[in-house]
Amino acid sequence: MPASSPVEEGAVREFGAGLRGELLRPEGDGYHAARRVFNGMIDKRPALIVRCVGASDVMQGVDFARTHDLLLAVRSGGHNVAGKAVCDGGLMLDLSHMKGMRVDPARRVARAEAGLTLGDFDRETQAFGLATPLGVVSMTGIAGLTLGGGLGWLNGKHGLACDNLLSADVVTADGTLLRADDGENADLFWGIRGGGGNFGVVTSFEYRLHPVGQVLGGGLLYSAGEARDALRFYHEFASSCPDELTTSASLGLAPDGSLVAGITVCYCGAMEEGERVLRPLRGFGSPLEDTIRPMAYAALQSASDEGFPSGRQHYWKASYLKDLTDEAIEVLLRFVSEMPSSSSGVGLQQMHGAASRVDPAATAFPHRDEHYDLLILSQWADPADSEANVRWARELFEAMRPFFGEGVYVNNLGEEEADRVEEAYGEHYGRLLALKEKYDPANLFRLNQNIEPASRTGEAS
Ligand SMILES: Cc1cc2nc3c(=O)[nH]c(=O)nc-3n(C[C@H](O)[C@H](O)[C@H](O)COP(=O)(O)OP(=O)(O)OC[C@H]3O[C@@H](n4cnc5c(N)ncnc54)[C@H](O)[C@@H]3O)c2cc1C
Repeated sequence: MPASSPVEEGAVREFGAGLRGELLRPEGDGYHAARRVFNGMIDKRPALIVRCVGASDVMQGVDFARTHDLLLAVRSGGHNVAGKAVCDGGLMLDLSHMKGMRVDPARRVARAEAGLTLGDFDRETQAFGLATPLGVVSMTGIAGLTLGGGLGWLNGKHGLACDNLLSADVVTADGTLLRADDGENADLFWGIRGGGGNFGVVTSFEYRLHPVGQVLGGGLLYSAGEARDALRFYHEFASSCPDELTTSASLGLAPDGSLVAGITVCYCGAMEEGERVLRPLRGFGSPLEDTIRPMAYAALQSASDEGFPSGRQHYWKASYLKDLTDEAIEVLLRFVSEMPSSSSGVGLQQMHGAASRVDPAATAFPHRDEHYDLLILSQWADPADSEANVRWARELFEAMRPFFGEGVYVNNLGEEEADRVEEAYGEHYGRLLALKEKYDPANLFRLNQNIEPASRTGEAS
């Protein structure tokens, strides 16, 4: 699709002149860098990109898109695999340069602009020995992650990212900026904690912080011969671990092509107690390596970064797994040993403790029981290999279907999974739909895991 602007030139110039940030166009400098997102499979060309530097640019951008009937994309960290942060034609609001942040260590609160990554955020809060739950890869954007829920190393002790949100500034479809918190626009505040970008553009978030200094973090790696038993033991161990400990397990291929199983942990309580809690796990089998040690929380947060270089091709399939049965382990082992790309893998991210005890009605994030977020992560470098890698992920997903629980994490949905959106919002879908009718009845914000207002059903998106 051509990226030329469908809007009259004079109006575009006037719009650009009124912005504090830059208006990027296909022929100009910076345009191609700005339209690129994490997933190299996404190659879209907006007609206009606004490099927002403040809420005023966002408000003007929303007004311009609405007035001129332009498709509107909202990008913060640009990490979402579905690639809906960018569009063909239309207008892209790029918030990735909005990185202002203020930490109030006395009140244990941080105000953070939407363009911050997890790494940016942690650097600021860790200067005060504080943190809020976010994810596990430091280049991910806080915005998309928080709006979808936000599952990470502190979820057992402190809940999800969205559970720690105190307020947000949201530009709604009419171009006004609303404060959303428990007292003001409380319905909107409920909806943005799990309902994604359906209701407006969040320009900044206010988070509750917790004392988090050094953690006991790192991982254990097991050879193919021990992988099966290590996963069995892991499941037993993780099922009864305390809130301070959050874990993940993975299956992948070592550089020599042999299968390996990994277990990664973050213990965020007293070190001595952590050593005691982790002893049975560390005593299991004969791990190829054991890197668990006291470390800065921010170091653990970036420990997996190397595995996710920007620009690779990504195709993910995900679901929740309540139980890791022997049969499920067999399927995972079989598929991982036959992966077409050695960069791919399977991850099990544990959701438990404080995150699973939150009343499901308290926020729009509905999936509050203890489970694993199973992620089939297909990743490869050469676009010519796409067919084999996509097929591998789809076939493994089908083979695992008998073991899945209900629901899927909205932030793991791919581009072509519109049929799973209701499953992702679960029991809250009806309430979210009513909220969408109130705040965005024309569905201006539709490039997301979209809750389509009844009045718009059937129209082209
Ligand atoms: C390598 C990797 C690791 C990950 N690890 C985790 C993890 O540990 N835990 C976890 O929970 N998730 C994880 N995720 C998933 C992650 O939560 C989503 O990809 C999330 O969307 C990323 O946010 P972003 O700001 O980078 O997204 P973007 O791609 O910028 O945006 C995604 C969508 O969010 C909406 N959006 C973005 N910004 C705004 C805004 N300011 N206002 C309104 N709507 C907005 C838009 O609909 C947009 O299309 C991971 C993803 C990757 C690629």
